[in-house]
Amino acid sequence: MVRDREQTTRQVQQLLEKDRTCPNEACPDFGKTKTGNIIKYGHTDGGRQRYLCRTCGKTFTATRR
Ligand SMILES: [Zn+2]
Repeated sequence: MVRDREQTTRQVQQLLEKDRTCPNEACPDFGKTKTGNIIKYGHTDGGRQRYLCRTCGKTFTATRR
């Protein structure tokens, strides 16, 4: 079913934030996608999604474009 596939895709995206890039310009993986270095890291007090870059150890919040 199409719906099942969409749900599976969504679950994978929740685990792997491959399209997120590290905003730290000093990070070796700055601006790179699909490196697998960005993982979800809880939420801010304001309820925004927080991410962690495993390469440089910095956390940041999602930005909308
Ligand atoms: Zn980084």
